[in-house]
Amino acid sequence: MSHVKLFIPGPVEVSAKTQLAMIQPLMGHRSKEFQALYQRIMPGLQTLFGTAQPVFLSTSSAWGVMEGALRNLVTKKVLNCCCGAFSDKWYEVSLSCGKQAEALRVPWGQPITPEAVDERLATGDFDAITVVHNETSTGVLNPLREIAAVVKKYPGVSLITDVVSSFSTVPIGFDELGLDVMLLGTQKALALPPGMALFAISEAALAKAASVSDRGYYLDFVEFRKNADNFMTPSTPVIPLIFALESKLEDIFGEGLEQRYARHAALNGMVHDWVRRHDFDFLAPEGYRSKSLTCVKNSRGIDTAKLVSLMRKNHLMAIDGGYGKIKDSTFRLSNMGDETEATIAALIAALDDSLAKL
Ligand SMILES: *Cc1c(COP(=O)(O)O)cnc(C)c1O
Repeated sequence: MSHVKLFIPGPVEVSAKTQLAMIQPLMGHRSKEFQALYQRIMPGLQTLFGTAQPVFLSTSSAWGVMEGALRNLVTKKVLNCCCGAFSDKWYEVSLSCGKQAEALRVPWGQPITPEAVDERLATGDFDAITVVHNETSTGVLNPLREIAAVVKKYPGVSLITDVVSSFSTVPIGFDELGLDVMLLGTQKALALPPGMALFAISEAALAKAASVSDRGYYLDFVEFRKNADNFMTPSTPVIPLIFALESKLEDIFGEGLEQRYARHAALNGMVHDWVRRHDFDFLAPEGYRSKSLTCVKNSRGIDTAKLVSLMRKNHLMAIDGGYGKIKDSTFRLSNMGDETEATIAALIAALDDSLAKL
């Protein structure tokens, strides 16, 4: 079936194997069959998260858990690290939940520095911080390890981390880094359809959540934990996506984790070579560039909307212009999910052809 193939940074292309996995017959979500399904996928999820904690399944997109984390864990004030569209929005969501919040801002394209985080947390004003690991709008990979090391100096502060577009493309050890919440949606780095979010919570964060009285109903972390201890979810989960996730875990561990990380690095390198070959630039500085997508700085001043449209019309490939205020000054190419050297080579050939026709 011919269709426009997705090279946008989410949702990304979903394989036929994944599509087929979703049409298995359903079961009741309080049945032994469901518990067995959740139990089967749990060890693989824990390995991917790098945690001994249970991994939770939320029938929502990532924003559900992002809002849930604020409601469960912010009692004093939250520091929202803002370096692009998604991380900026987290500050607005904090305010819309009625939380005291402060934005720690850097210009779009720059990373969050551990020094700036240290300086703000030293005020003692905060009991939570939000960090987007891979800022999908700017292609910046923030120094999560260094930021986490700083946050550890402040024991009452919960570190809430969005890994939506980096999960499983680079190693992220939840327990090793000492994160308090790590969350992602299914439609980006995992190459599943949208509709489910995965997350883990530290014991310390769970204990804190238990003491919060207005954490809400749908994303009550305490209820997620109680249910997961029994391999269940608080409300009816999106079972077809859990089938898809089981199938995807087979793919991931069939390939091997190290190989998966290496593949993403190599494919990202191919895109970077294309950027350099055509005298474009990167929005993110060297050392802070995403491995799962490339945010190209339109240093040649090309008509990015026309490039996007030529790619779609002539090559049945969807790429993305920039996000929000960097709409025309950047464009984005994803190498998330199941891409291979051959599919990225095809993307590059199509880009060459489209660029020549501008
Ligand atoms: C896409 C994205 C989100 C939002 O995901 P939804 O599925 O729309 O909830 C959040 N953070 C990052 C970094 C993203 O790339």
